[in-house]
Amino acid sequence: MTATTTTEEKHEQARAKTWVRAEIQALAPYSVHPSSGLVKLDAMENPYGWPESMREEWLDYLRGAAVNRYPDATAAGLKERLREAFQLPATMDILLGNGSDELIQIIQLCLLGTDRVVLAPSPSFSMYETVAKFVGAKFVGVPLTDDHEIDLRRMQLAISRHAPAVVFLAYPNNPTGNLFDRDALCEIIRSCDGLVVMDEAYHIFAGQSFCDQLEHHDNLVVMRTLSKLGLAGLRLGYLTGPGSWLDEFEKVRMPYNVNVLTQMTVEFALQRLEVFEAQARLIVNERRRLYEALSGREDVTPFPTACNFILFRSDELPARDLFRRLVEQGVLLRSFDGSPGFLGNCLRVSVGTEQENDAFLAAMDVCLP
Ligand SMILES: *Cc1c(COP(=O)(O)O)cnc(C)c1O
Repeated sequence: MTATTTTEEKHEQARAKTWVRAEIQALAPYSVHPSSGLVKLDAMENPYGWPESMREEWLDYLRGAAVNRYPDATAAGLKERLREAFQLPATMDILLGNGSDELIQIIQLCLLGTDRVVLAPSPSFSMYETVAKFVGAKFVGVPLTDDHEIDLRRMQLAISRHAPAVVFLAYPNNPTGNLFDRDALCEIIRSCDGLVVMDEAYHIFAGQSFCDQLEHHDNLVVMRTLSKLGLAGLRLGYLTGPGSWLDEFEKVRMPYNVNVLTQMTVEFALQRLEVFEAQARLIVNERRRLYEALSGREDVTPFPTACNFILFRSDELPARDLFRRLVEQGVLLRSFDGSPGFLGNCLRVSVGTEQENDAFLAAMDVCLP
């Protein structure tokens, strides 16, 4: 490759410009800040590894993996393990995704077209809007109240005005971290003729769920992921809800979307769920400690959270500057600078190990003397 652009290459670029849909060209690529050498507290990962003996057992077990074969297309065994481990209602179906990101994509591919609307509170998980752009649908974001609660009246107005085919509700919400009022969410499910997806990505830390509401609402499905539990690298999300919806979603799912190693490893991990539950308890304890430490500072305002992260506002420095100073101190957070509204001056810290959290708090002392 040479640095100069040949006429031929220019011609190819022009062709791409002609043919790639304008709304895709307008998107910014999903970018992840390099994390090498940094204390990585930017992505809501479980910071703990596995006990050595468990690793050994796992590697032994993987010896039997038939990677020359396609994976089990229905993954029936894995679904039953998930049903048992997470007590999913026996009357509901299960759909598996390559991460819950893929489930968001499957749902939108099924329900949306150019004349359809997807609606969510704002700010919330960014993929709801990004995927809407992929499929060429209209996204409507309904602002939260000043204390990050769902604005029931505004939501209901927007629902009656736009008649969304699907509403995404993150419970608890990312990036704010809070659990919305349960009664308000039930009202929203009742107000909506289209599908409501309850995104319970942080279920393991929040201990709250709408699974018990599934039988009462035929337009409700519950979505979860194993990523925040501690298996982010495997990419497995699941959706549970009535067959009337899931049978249709199933048609859009790529036949072998959950690979052999993921299927085997998740089955292995679910037999040792207590390891992950114990790690989640450690994370919740550390979250409390971090929250108290941040609350004690004059220069930032942390917001209440039911997740494995804390969103906080930077009150003395622009978020971008605090983010940069923390990186200089070797600590990587997520900054929301450039976002509209209050979020633009916020950072999000994922809860790490005790040592990582200490490193973050020490870095804060240096960055905000
Ligand atoms: C992290 C996250 C997801 C995506 O999870 P994956 O299964 O890793 O794709 C979905 N929803 C919310 C609210 C999240 O925070």
